[in-house]
Amino acid sequence: MKTFVYIDHFKGEVQPASWEALGLAKNFGGSSSLTTTAIVFGSDVDAIVKDAFNYGADEVLVADDSALLDFRAETYAATLTALVLRQAQDTASSLSPSLILFPTTTRTRELSAMSAVDLNCGVVTDATAVEVNGDSVMVTRPIYEAKLFEKVTCSSALQFITLRGRAFPKPEKGSGKSGTITKVDTKTDALTTVEGYSVAEVGVSLNDAGIIVSGGRGVSNNPSLQPPAGLDDKQSEIWRAQQGFKLVGELASTLGGAIGASRAAVDAGYIPYSNQVGQTGKVVAPDVYIACGISGAIQHLAGIRSAKMVIAINKDADAPIFKVARYGVVGDLFVILPALNEAFKKKLGK
Ligand SMILES: Cc1cc2nc3c(=O)[nH]c(=O)nc-3n(C[C@H](O)[C@H](O)[C@H](O)COP(=O)(O)OP(=O)(O)OC[C@H]3O[C@@H](n4cnc5c(N)ncnc54)[C@H](O)[C@@H]3O)c2cc1C
Repeated sequence: MKTFVYIDHFKGEVQPASWEALGLAKNFGGSSSLTTTAIVFGSDVDAIVKDAFNYGADEVLVADDSALLDFRAETYAATLTALVLRQAQDTASSLSPSLILFPTTTRTRELSAMSAVDLNCGVVTDATAVEVNGDSVMVTRPIYEAKLFEKVTCSSALQFITLRGRAFPKPEKGSGKSGTITKVDTKTDALTTVEGYSVAEVGVSLNDAGIIVSGGRGVSNNPSLQPPAGLDDKQSEIWRAQQGFKLVGELASTLGGAIGASRAAVDAGYIPYSNQVGQTGKVVAPDVYIACGISGAIQHLAGIRSAKMVIAINKDADAPIFKVARYGVVGDLFVILPALNEAFKKKLGK
């Protein structure tokens, strides 16, 4: 099965799940002898092309054009559609793909959907498993807030599948590898222009984090902390929550992880929405998720069902979060977090 892998990046920073997709394509059917083709779009993308070879691509199709500096669905989808049509016409090399894998990101959801409409092909998003059997592909993906996993097949000759980040192993990065680079045409017509970006998220991204330390409403619950004079009740609550999130952030920093939050913490104004985990926040899949002062409401759990290990710190031994936690500490997070942080710092020599 001829498989292409779309390498998604923002300003040259590749979404790690792109490499996971490349690793999957490389080993389809347990065979590492298949030719794996990566697709790279952007401007000045030589470094990405180099990395694609080092992560296992045998050939790379590149659209390198200043018109592709910023992601816009119109230009990227038109370029992808043209690439696929071109490959299909190229009977001499029989390069026409039957499958294009993407990492699941906001950009690739838009890109794959738009191009799939142009090409009249099927698109299945957010796969957590892909089984290839001859010409048929069975995709497993979570539905209903990950309470069920559905198995989907697609009948079109070409299909697009986006893969959930961290659901597939990342291949080892080699060095100095090379292969065939083929330039493809860029479609530059677009009605929109990106005028600039503002940073909404700093530190380690929740989507890619191996470790997430998350805080809930409990981070504001330390009555012994005395807020500065002059703050009203709401301001005092937020000040206390900031002290709690400082402890959450310190542990995250020691462990090289990201900071998450419950919706209660976000709604109360303790932390921005970009940190929210759950049904109406981000769905994450870290190796370790440390929930601090989070009760474990069903909507929060919907965001952490793919976490490999949950550790809970909560004052209430009956909190539902303990039902999904591999390890639980019943206690005050204001006592436990500094102690954990110290212990990890010592252990990690920090
Ligand atoms: C449609 C819908 C969508 C939703 N989407 C989301 C979502 O995406 N994400 C999400 O998180 N929620 C979501 N919610 C809200 C969800 O139902 C809960 O209200 C929310 O998750 C509760 O957050 P929490 O656990 O931080 O707060 P609480 O439920 O109030 O829990 C606080 C916990 O902190 C503990 N605690 C208090 N003080 C301390 C201390 N000092 N040390 C240790 N533990 C302490 C308490 O024992 C308690 O268990 C959604 C709700 C709806 C209706």
